[in-house]
Amino acid sequence: MKVIVLGAGVIGVTSAYQLAKAGHEVIVVDRQQGPALETSFANAGEVSFGYCSPWAAPGIPMKALKWLFMEHAPLILRPKLDRAMLAWMMQMLRNCTAERYAVNKSRMLRLAAYSRTSLADVRAETGIAYDERMQGTLQLFRTQQQLDASAKDVKALAADGVPYKVLDRDGCIRVEPALTHVREKIVGGLLTPKDETGDCFKFTEALAARASALGVRFAYGTHVRGLDVENGRVRGVLTDRERMTADAVVVALGSFSPLLLRPLGIRLPVYPVKGYSLTIPITDPSRAPESTVMDETYKIAITRLGDRIRVGGMAEISGYTNDLGHARRRTLDHSVTDLFPGGDLRRASFWSGLRPMTPDGTPVIGQTKIAGLFLNTGHGTLGWTMSCGSARLISDLVSGRKPEIDAADLAISRYN
Ligand SMILES: Cc1cc2nc3c(=O)[nH]c(=O)nc-3n(C[C@H](O)[C@H](O)[C@H](O)COP(=O)(O)OP(=O)(O)OC[C@H]3O[C@@H](n4cnc5c(N)ncnc54)[C@H](O)[C@@H]3O)c2cc1C
Repeated sequence: MKVIVLGAGVIGVTSAYQLAKAGHEVIVVDRQQGPALETSFANAGEVSFGYCSPWAAPGIPMKALKWLFMEHAPLILRPKLDRAMLAWMMQMLRNCTAERYAVNKSRMLRLAAYSRTSLADVRAETGIAYDERMQGTLQLFRTQQQLDASAKDVKALAADGVPYKVLDRDGCIRVEPALTHVREKIVGGLLTPKDETGDCFKFTEALAARASALGVRFAYGTHVRGLDVENGRVRGVLTDRERMTADAVVVALGSFSPLLLRPLGIRLPVYPVKGYSLTIPITDPSRAPESTVMDETYKIAITRLGDRIRVGGMAEISGYTNDLGHARRRTLDHSVTDLFPGGDLRRASFWSGLRPMTPDGTPVIGQTKIAGLFLNTGHGTLGWTMSCGSARLISDLVSGRKPEIDAADLAISRYN
């Protein structure tokens, strides 16, 4: 079959790689000049198969109100007269019940577990390097109250069969020796040792090269304008350069996916939630993290990527804008210098990206009501983590094969 994949972020490129392996003729279309130049470019680098939960959770609406007034706030809300934003926020609130949370989380964990083995397979097949490490995530608590509150996370990890360790201050320092310099600031931590880390951009760029070697054609610098649909079946894609024909189309445009689908009457509840990151060259490795440290106070992840520290976080609901806010940079500077002052902040690069968020936290993977039109999008906070499993799944669905995991409740039909 001839398959067009729209988007060359981590989701589009992993999908194209799996589709090419399945024997299809694949074209990837992206407006950028290369792979992973939008949201997949400088994310926090966590491949957190264990720490995999929806943001919409019981108690979040009250916490969110508190966060809005913090100096270094994890959540920033800039309401607009935008129906899509308001509808998405209402859906998000509706998912904050214990029942919805349990359903959503079980879907995410299923996909994350599949992604763990799928990423390991891609690594084994391709041998690509991406500053990867397999040393876990340490959620760091600065107050006794945070440590006590983690009891419910521990219960959930145990129930889901995710390996974990509760650590005291010395235990945290054993895992992350640089914390010895700030030992008085920490009370303990929660380690998920099976989590991984790595540079999503490097991974995607290297995998795009492998996909090219398998015959995938990349049409960069090409803007997708619409879909060509006839008698309920997709026939191709309209771009600013040409009309391309296809037997199947996979939409992996991240936050921009709903804009393409709306004219076809497909309402995809994906909305951009902006996050920020800093990438800092390491000057003193003894004061840099070994893996990911999640600073619970500011909800900021500090990750070692080779000879750099990546600091990422914050959730800003402000529509489709990549503006870089200076207050946000101060928050990232503050969190990293407070714990790991081992980098040169003057040479740091500051970046923002739009997480393609669904209100239930789970991505949308599967067939639409239009024959031949598939979605692999809405991966929100965990697109890097879930990319390889999502790609295998979409490749099986496009190829008409039975997927290795249950996929029916991941499709857009779950919102009906
Ligand atoms: C600050 C931050 C930290 C994060 N940390 C983590 C983390 O630690 N771990 C994790 O798993 N995830 C993390 N994420 C989430 C992760 O980065 C995303 O889920 C993932 O990158 C989404 O990938 P994507 O391919 O769907 O989207 P994108 O990477 O945005 O790709 C979509 C592509 O579509 C193209 N496109 C869009 N519209 C058009 C059009 N009309 N025509 C042509 N091309 C178009 C774009 O150019 C882009 O290349 C983080 C995100 C942010 C912002």
